[in-house]
Amino acid sequence: MNIAFVGLGIMGGPMAANLVRAGHTVVGYDVSDERLDALVGAGGKAAESVAEAVAQADTAITMLPDSPQVEEVVFGPDGLLEHGRRGLLHIDMSTVRPETARRVAQAAAVKGIRALDAPVSGGERGAVDGTLSVMVGGDPGDFEDARPVLVVLGTTIVHVGPAGAGQTVKAANQLVVGGIYGLVAEAIVLLEASGVDPEAGLDVLAGGLAGSRVLDLKRHSMIRRRFAPGFRIDLHHKDMGIVIAAAREAGVALPLTGVVAQLIAAARAQGYGSLDHSALLKVVERINR
Ligand code: NAD
Repeated sequence: MNIAFVGLGIMGGPMAANLVRAGHTVVGYDVSDERLDALVGAGGKAAESVAEAVAQADTAITMLPDSPQVEEVVFGPDGLLEHGRRGLLHIDMSTVRPETARRVAQAAAVKGIRALDAPVSGGERGAVDGTLSVMVGGDPGDFEDARPVLVVLGTTIVHVGPAGAGQTVKAANQLVVGGIYGLVAEAIVLLEASGVDPEAGLDVLAGGLAGSRVLDLKRHSMIRRRFAPGFRIDLHHKDMGIVIAAAREAGVALPLTGVVAQLIAAARAQGYGSLDHSALLKVVERINR
């Protein structure tokens, strides 16, 4: 397949390389020359614009930081809707607002372009290994057409509903992950303040009803105060903004989510934006000092 890939960062770079390895022709575009050089090194081709990347594409994947970049790449004069062929399948794998996904899908339909929102979970490791979880919103037929591409990138690939539904599921994912980090941080602070060994305490928690992937993967590094990213506080802060906006749009109140969003905002304000999101522990510690 001829695949355009726009946004070759921490996630997009290895994802595009995996598509090259699977035998697809990948034409990439990124505002960073360094990122483009890395794609060429992996066997892909570099385009000088979004227009050039999508011109011959059957499928276009975007993996960009946030809604404004997706809107620029999709709606801009140099963008995907202006220069993509009729029938092009656009898969936006960035984490953006559900509303952005719906607007993209509607505008794409007018141009005869098919659009899916397909955000991912699984981090850089999942991107490198091709083991991402992918939550897809959009037309079921388009989802089936996207499947051969998505199976190269992920292992859990689920169609969750119409346009925007993938982003809503990702928002739910981010609120749960943020909340669990906050509570694990509070458990560590409680155990240590009570003179109980946190390693022993959390080992027991991990084996019971309180068990979670966060406890499995991060309890040891959190107790040792190792916060190299991983998934940065800055990105989780962006995602909590998406969660709050989605809740507002849906007309629901999510009180715990509000607290978690403020804790993550505090982590950022305290200068921990480039640390892993497990650094929420530093915020809970600071409240208690
Ligand atoms: P990143 O900042 O490493 O990569 C984004 C890339 O987009 C950069 O290379 C940047 O130069 C490029 N870019 C920005 N604006 C552009 C434009 N207008 N045109 C072309 N290229 C442009 O970010 P990332 O970590 O790869 O994350 C990408 C998306 O995936 C985000 O929405 C993030 O929330 C989501 N995500 C990230 C992770 C993770 O662990 N990093 C996990 C799941 C989901």
